[in-house]
Amino acid sequence: MSADPNCIFCKIVAGQIPASKVHEDDEVFAFHDIHPWAPVHILIIPKRHIVSMVDVDAEHEGLLGRMMLLSSRLMKQLGVTNGYRHVINTGPDGRQEVQHLHLHVMGGPRPWNKG
Ligand code: AMP
Ligand code: ZN
Repeated sequence: MSADPNCIFCKIVAGQIPASKVHEDDEVFAFHDIHPWAPVHILIIPKRHIVSMVDVDAEHEGLLGRMMLLSSRLMKQLGVTNGYRHVINTGPDGRQEVQHLHLHVMGGPRPWNKG
């Protein structure tokens, strides 16, 4: 499935729900988290609907690498110079709330709201 009509992040990718976009290319979309834990808190997502890390395999190697590399580039671009944290929540015990794979990247000066 490339898009799930009931998925909030698919709707963001499609421009049906507003988001504060920081990056878009053919495979990946990135935007600011609506409830930031840190001064800078972005979400990097695949444009196509992938539920979670449970659903990735070797064919997604390039996509996942691209998301990780993009994270460093975007943190630099957003002025984060003193470190940041990556989080991917997976499934119920991982407390994943949105069922579309997303990489949280959080940074900026302490203290943070959470984390
Ligand atoms: P998770 O618990 O890893 O599934 O986190 C989902 C994240 O998505 C949370 O940090 C939410 O604040 C964020 N979020 C949910 N809806 C939106 C939205 N419309 N725009 C931006 N971020 C959102
Ligand atoms: Zn989706």
